[in-house]
Order: sequence, then C-alpha cells, then structure tokens
Amino acid sequence: MKLAGNRRGRDLVIKNQQLIKETNLKNVFSLIYSSSGISRVNLVELTGLSPTTVSALVEELLEYELICTMGVGESKTSGRKPIMLEVNRDCAQIATIAWQKSGFSFSLLDLGCSEIEEFSVIVPSGAAFEDVIEEIITNRSQLIDTEKILAICLSIPAIIDSTNKKVITSVLDIDENDDILSRINNKFPELPVMIGNESAFYAYAEHEFSSLQDTRNLIYININVGVGAGIIQNGEIYRGAHGMAGEFGHISMDVNGPECSCGNRGCLERLIKTPRIIELVIDGIKNGKHSEVEALCIGDFSMIDIPMIAVAYNNGDELVTEILSDVARILSFALNNIISFYDPKTIVLGGGIERLGPAFLGEVRTQTKIAGFRKIVSSVDIIFTELSSFNYRNKGAAKYYLDNIFRISGNKKDELIIC
Ligand SMILES: [Zn+2]
Repeated sequence: MKLAGNRRGRDLVIKNQQLIKETNLKNVFSLIYSSSGISRVNLVELTGLSPTTVSALVEELLEYELICTMGVGESKTSGRKPIMLEVNRDCAQIATIAWQKSGFSFSLLDLGCSEIEEFSVIVPSGAAFEDVIEEIITNRSQLIDTEKILAICLSIPAIIDSTNKKVITSVLDIDENDDILSRINNKFPELPVMIGNESAFYAYAEHEFSSLQDTRNLIYININVGVGAGIIQNGEIYRGAHGMAGEFGHISMDVNGPECSCGNRGCLERLIKTPRIIELVIDGIKNGKHSEVEALCIGDFSMIDIPMIAVAYNNGDELVTEILSDVARILSFALNNIISFYDPKTIVLGGGIERLGPAFLGEVRTQTKIAGFRKIVSSVDIIFTELSSFNYRNKGAAKYYLDNIFRISGNKKDELIIC
C-alpha cells in the first residue's frame, strides 16, 4: 500500500512538472508570437523565469521549429548583441472552415494566422456535410501539408450545446438530434477538430487583430442571415454555463410578436436580420413606393443586397431611410438591454451590417442615446468592425485554438473540442 501511495505521489509530481513546463513553454511561445522580434533577455524580464529556464524553453521551441532566429537586436550594454527570436510562420498550418447557409468558406492559415489559401464550396444537394468537409481537406485544398496541420477549426452560425454535443440553429439545415459533430470528428482520426460559434470567433478576432486589443470587455453583434453575439470577458470568450451564451438574436422585442423557431415570441433576429431588411425594401417597392433600389437592381429583386441598399440610403432614398430608421430603432432597444445588463466597454457591430455605412451607425448611436439609460449608454462605444472581411471568423477561430487549446508538448489527435 505504501509503495502504491508513493508511486501515486511520484506520478502526481511528474504530472505537475509536465503541466508547469507546458505552461512555461506556452507563455514563452505567446510572448514570441505577439512580438515582432524578442530576445532571451527580454523573455527573462517578462516571464520572471531564470535565464537558464528561458534558454532551455527557447531551445525546445527551436527544436519543435515553432520559432526561429531573425538576426541580432540592439544591446542595452556594450556587450554582445542579443539574438532575436520570432515565430516560424511556415512551420505549421491551421485549416479553418466557416459553415454558412450558402456552403463552406475554407481558409488555410499559417502559424501567424495569415492566409495561404482560401476558397468557397457550395454543398451539393443531398450531400452529407462531413463528406464535403473531408473532400475540402483531402482533395480540394492544393496547399495543405498534412505534416504541418495542427487542427481543423470550424465556425458555425449555431448554438453548440457543449453538454449534449448538439447543434441548435435557425440558420442552417441541421436537425437538432443529428449527431453531426461526432460524424465530422470521425472523419479526421489523426487531427484535433475544434468547433465553435461564429459570433464568438468574430469577437475573438476583434480582440486579437483590431485596435481593440487592449479592450478586455466587448460584445460583437453579428448581423447577417441571422443575428448573434460574441462576448469577450476579461480577454476570453464567454460562453455561459452550457456554452450557449450570446444568443442576442433570440431576445424578445415583443411579448406578443410572431413565434420564432426557438420557441420565443418577437425575436430580434426576425426583425433586423439582413434578409428581412432586403425583404422590407422589396415589399415597399411592390406596394408602389418609389425607391432608387429598383433602378439599381435593374428590376431584378434577387440582385438586391446590403451594399446596394447602402447606396440608396446615402442618396437619401425615402423608402430605405424609413426602413433603416426602424431597424436602427429596434436594434438600439436591443443594444440598450444588453448595455444595461452587461455594461460592456465597446459594442462592435459587424457580420455584414457594417456595409450599410457610417450614416446607419450614426442613426443607431443616436437612437441608442434617445432610448437608453443615459448614464450607462454614454460610456459605451458603439462602433462598426474594422475587420470587415468574413474571413476574420476563420482567423478568430485559428487564434483561439492557438491561444487556448494548442499544447506545444502534444495534442490529442482525435479530440473534438467544443468551444
Ligand atoms: Zn427566437
């Protein structure tokens, strides 16, 4: 018994030592990653670790080829100039896929989260989603290097119930009881597969790649074919107790409103999602209202999109102004609810709605101030995303993986990570 106890104790010590080493490795790697060149001396100063420990960790990262040397830097003393270290962007790849109503958007990223390759794939009718994803990774991508791939990261416009591993979505054609996550994971026994909500990854990208890097608390409102929110709390994605936080589109704006697929009534998503805005413009024209949009789309209503509506809006189009004023008012009420409840530093509007342009943002800000709890609202910045490219959900996913899941000393190959 005593021997077994000793062995357990020894195992625990070894496990703790491995954990501490992985934490230190990750810490040093993150500092090198976020710098544009850093020396071992800088790393000692920033980590508080001994020079010997830092040297050993740097050697290990060099051996893994995750970092490389980039020449010498300036010395603070008259001594030898320090060798600068940087992340070795080409040593690894992350395959990211954004799952949309229209299909999949694939981006192959290097370790620095820069695009190596990107393309979109429409899912053929009747095809199994997991087969299309497998086809993208194994055949369609020309630049994937299987030796370098760290993980596959999927973003999805859906709630992912992390407890029951179910996908709940009003945007995609997925049955709630469909075990789609396991089927995707089973296709890639040699790779970790991470899947998470697209609004959360947009929010994480905002925190990592925009000028909001120092903003610890922000909410990203993703308005497109659905409406969702990503919450960054203390620099981390906040997902709630069951991984389902951020369903901003399903807060009710009208207790007697129309029933929503979620079971609630009068959901925000039904009122302001971009297809609804387009639908309102088409309805207005069909009901005999004059609008510049009719000329812009040359009579083909299927051509109407948000940039086209923005053109008419900026030209003072009466119908579009009336519709967008209503949309701004409804959105501002919803924003006031989360501002009063959450008190974020910044609210970022994105996902495609930013294409309506600065005049719409001005309208939302004005309406929010009119409707809201004055003192709280006045301290919150409401802005459009600076990262107006749909690829940022992929980059956000990849960066989230690197920061929070990736283990330098080894990852479980067939792991399914829900975040
Ligand atoms: Zn709803």
